[in-house]
Parts: sequence; C-alpha cells; structure tokens
Amino acid sequence: MGRVALVTGGTRGIGAAIADRLKMSGYRVAAVFQGNFTAAEAFHRETGIPICQWDVADFSACVNGIAKVREMLGPVDILVNNAGITRDVMLHKMTAEQWNSVIATDLTSCFNMCRAVINDMRERNFGRIVNISSVNGQRGQFGQTNYAAAKAGILGFTRALALESAGKGITVNAVAPGYIATEMVGVMDPGLLQRIVAQIPVGRLGRPDEVAHIVQFLAGDDAGYITGATFSANGGQYMA
Ligand code: NDP
Repeated sequence: MGRVALVTGGTRGIGAAIADRLKMSGYRVAAVFQGNFTAAEAFHRETGIPICQWDVADFSACVNGIAKVREMLGPVDILVNNAGITRDVMLHKMTAEQWNSVIATDLTSCFNMCRAVINDMRERNFGRIVNISSVNGQRGQFGQTNYAAAKAGILGFTRALALESAGKGITVNAVAPGYIATEMVGVMDPGLLQRIVAQIPVGRLGRPDEVAHIVQFLAGDDAGYITGATFSANGGQYMA
C-alpha cells in the first residue's frame, strides 16, 4: 500500500494541486479544509480524495483530526503544511486580530500539525514534512507584516525541526512560491497585480501544479538527502 500523505488547505488552490499530484503518484492522500464545504465537496467528487474539516490554528483540533486520519488511512508519512490566509493592511492600521489570525493559521499551524504527527514518524524512522512559505516571507512585502513574519517564521521552524529530525529519517523542507494563480491572488486589486506581474522576470503568474511538482519531489525517497532547504518557485522574482 502507498504511503499516507496529508495536505492542509488541500481542497483549493496550491494545496489541491499538491493533493492531486500526490494521489497520482500513488500516495493515499487526505486533504484538510476549514469551512468552504462547496469547494471541498467539489474537490472530493472530482478526485475521490477524502476531505477532513478542522481549523489548523487549533492545537486540539489538529491532534483529534490526525487521530481520525490515522484510523482512516494509517499514520501520516508525508505532511504538507499548506493552509494559509492573508489579512493585508499596513501595520499602523493592523488590528491585533489581523495579526493573531495570520500568525495562528500560517505559522502556529505548522507547530500544531507537526507536533501531532512527529512521534509516529520518529517511531517508524521515516517522514517527509513540507512547509509552504512565500517569497514575501523571504523578502518582506508592503502591507504584510503579519504574513511576512509568519512565512519567515516557517523558514526558521523548518531548519530547526530538520536538525532535530535528521537522525530519524525525517526530512523537513520549505517551498517558497512567488505569485501563483489561485483565489488568494484573485482577490488582489487588479492594478496592483498587473504591476506585480510586470516585475516577474518570466512575465506571468505561476501555476499551482508548478509548486505541487516540487512537493512531489521532496516527498519521494530520492529526496532523502535534502533537509532544512528552501525551494523557491517565483519566476525569478527573488533570487536568494
Ligand atoms: P487558497 O486561499 O486558494 O486556499 C487556502 C486553503 O487553505 C483552503 O483549502 C482553505 O480551506 C485552507 N485553510 C485556510 N485556513 C485554514 C484553517 N485555519 N484551517 C484549515 N484549513 C485552512 O490559498 P493558496 O492556494 O493561494 O495558498 C496556499 C498556500 O500557499 C498558503 O499557505 C499561501 O500563503 C501560500 N502561498 C500562496 C501564494 C499565491 O500566490 N497563491 C504565494 C506564496 C505562498 P477553505 O477552502 O475551507 O477555506
């Protein structure tokens, strides 16, 4: 039987492309979503991938959710921490709620989910964790102190957990996409988006599958010597 992969935010956008690609590669996949049942059910009908609803910002919900996935499919071998939100506003107008919700959903979720799967991985001496960061965590972005802090935090979290886990056959890596054509980008002001695309050397937005392809590679046995790394997929927008 194939390994078990769990993708948070796996019912829409980049996460849906990741879940789909992992399924096509032979993994037994489940996808977590928060509240958009219409999108989640459509995704399930189209792909047959089981969907689970919980809030990744909630520690107990993650522990309980992982226990259910374990009952349904077995222990999680591959965890993709992809769920994320934006609440863009300049710092001098940002509310504590806008700060806290982005930090909790985009960063604390990585702790919650990893904490819930790591002991199973350590016991079985195998694991693949892929955390989805962002180009805006690598370089900062106007109006995104909350998001940039969370996404930069993911990079430090990834490296520290990679060190702790390397001796146990567990790799921990980050993928930092640039601007990818999903609903998250679809809600941006069209004029702003046009100006951003004009600054992307390859001259277009990325496709969700171009991120999914990297995750598929990192999930595989051939990527066992890669850990603590950040893979950028940003059309040349930021070269670190
Ligand atoms: P979308 O907004 O298209 O999809 C977000 C997904 O995350 C949905 O499935 C959503 O569930 C889920 N989700 C959100 N909050 C929670 C929560 N609290 N608990 C559980 N699930 C949750 O996002 P994208 O596909 O665009 O982005 C995916 C990831 O990639 C994010 O981390 C984002 O920050 C990152 N990224 C995106 C870029 C882009 O240009 N699109 C660029 C760089 C990074 P539901 O459908 O129920 O709302």
